Amino acid sequence: MKINYLYAFVLFFLISSCTEEGSERTSFDINVDGKVIQTHLSELSKDYYEGRMPFSTGEERTVAYIESEFKKMGLEPANEGSYIQSVPLVEINSTPDEKMLIRKGNKNLEFDLNTDFMIHTERQANRVDLKDSELVFCGFGINSKEFDWNDYEGMDLKGKTAVVLVNDPGFGGEDESFFKGNTMTYFGRWTYKYEEADRMGLAGLIIIHETASAGYPWYVVQSSWSGEQLGLKRDPNKLDCGIKGWIHLDAAKELFEFAGLDLGEQIRASRKKGFKPVAMNASITAGVNAVYREDVSKNVVGMIKGANQPEEYVIYTAHWDHIGISQAENGDSIYNGALDNASGTATVMAIAKAMVEAPQLPDRSVVFLMVTAEEQGLLGSEYYVENPIFPIASTVCNLNMDGVNPHGRMKDVTIVGYGQSEMDDYAEAVAKTQDRYILADQEPEKGYFFRSDHFNFAKVGIPPLYAEGAYDHRAKGKSYALKQKEIYNKNNYHRPSDEYIESEWDIDGMLEDAQLYYDVGLNIANSKDWPEWKEGSEFSRKVKN
Ligand SMILES: [Zn+2]
Repeated sequence: MKINYLYAFVLFFLISSCTEEGSERTSFDINVDGKVIQTHLSELSKDYYEGRMPFSTGEERTVAYIESEFKKMGLEPANEGSYIQSVPLVEINSTPDEKMLIRKGNKNLEFDLNTDFMIHTERQANRVDLKDSELVFCGFGINSKEFDWNDYEGMDLKGKTAVVLVNDPGFGGEDESFFKGNTMTYFGRWTYKYEEADRMGLAGLIIIHETASAGYPWYVVQSSWSGEQLGLKRDPNKLDCGIKGWIHLDAAKELFEFAGLDLGEQIRASRKKGFKPVAMNASITAGVNAVYREDVSKNVVGMIKGANQPEEYVIYTAHWDHIGISQAENGDSIYNGALDNASGTATVMAIAKAMVEAPQLPDRSVVFLMVTAEEQGLLGSEYYVENPIFPIASTVCNLNMDGVNPHGRMKDVTIVGYGQSEMDDYAEAVAKTQDRYILADQEPEKGYFFRSDHFNFAKVGIPPLYAEGAYDHRAKGKSYALKQKEIYNKNNYHRPSDEYIESEWDIDGMLEDAQLYYDVGLNIANSKDWPEWKEGSEFSRKVKN
């Protein structure tokens, strides 16, 4: 009896506190207008925009649309009176020699393009060669103060070619505190290894592919690294690593054996502290013919000037670009990119409109930056942080949207890169007002934190938020949410079928995420806070405030 009474009391308490929360939630302002999201989303997903490829008619139309909408809603042009930031890009089409030659003493070993290796150049040159360049095994190719680790230590590598492993030494081990265990760090990404090769002045860099460590099979390496590559236009005087590429695991085993080394043994050694580069006493000869063309794409940028601290900035981002017109599937060759990323572009535009129409100006300035060429390697945002309109040291945080939940309202707010910065805490505070809970990235080994535009802000020390409702559908539960995610990844991701179908998209979840982003951005814009990086993050603010 007593227990029943207590139970009833607890139940009563639970119900009453629920109602209280419920009424709190309904009194909570919904500032962002779902109809506005829908209008921009359906517009930008139309065939008229031709899949929004940089340098195409699709780009011209997309940029014109965003620019005119920014103007209409009353955002100020943010770049010296203009809504446009020009982004000079270069498109390089590498044609590698069919064979790669390895020499040791008077013995030769040959590898075949595509099956054994893939290489390309990022130089604006018609021909780049490695001629008997000395091979050195450099572990994971990591030089990191944060992890007190240097795979290049003690060897002059000028003119040499480094052979390195994909991912970082923490992957595949038991110890979650060694690097970040199976959670991929920035130092595990090939993008990092390419950049470090430039800094080290290497002549060549070859990454050994392994499916589990890379997170994808060899055919992805093949398809990603053949044909045209877009990149930022670089200073032609800067002597960067001329040839970069990958070698298949089987070919790598052969290469090590040829050099008199055991690959397995070397991998084990390279996962231990104090590893030193190993001269392979062999050389590589390989080459690439290239043609390149320069062109200019565009970021679109508008702002609301802050009322009290206008010289401090909160920056929202979403990439407007997608992959254009390509291989037809079921008679459709336009890759509309409705989810990726008309959804994020539309949502950020709706957030901007709501902020412009709010009765009060934010204390700090709020910037809405719609970037180009994300799909080609986060280039628009990289250009922005290298050529910032507003000082990096005065930029408080970044809020990025890329693929906003189209499946309806979710109980979770999944933060990609959870644990990196205090942006988690700002998101959590708002999530609570929406009766939602925070979930950490469910696939941290895939390195999604490094795969959208917020990452370029992280790299220069600006803490970002990249989050969405994803895994726990309010009405239909977790398995439903997961199924929807899987269906999209399997059938629609980077395919012509990524289209906006009004009857199939449930915009309410998108709206809830939009409101969360609105509140997080505005809370920070109306505070004097500088969200910091958390202990153990590989990022930090470059300039102390
Ligand atoms: Zn995207």
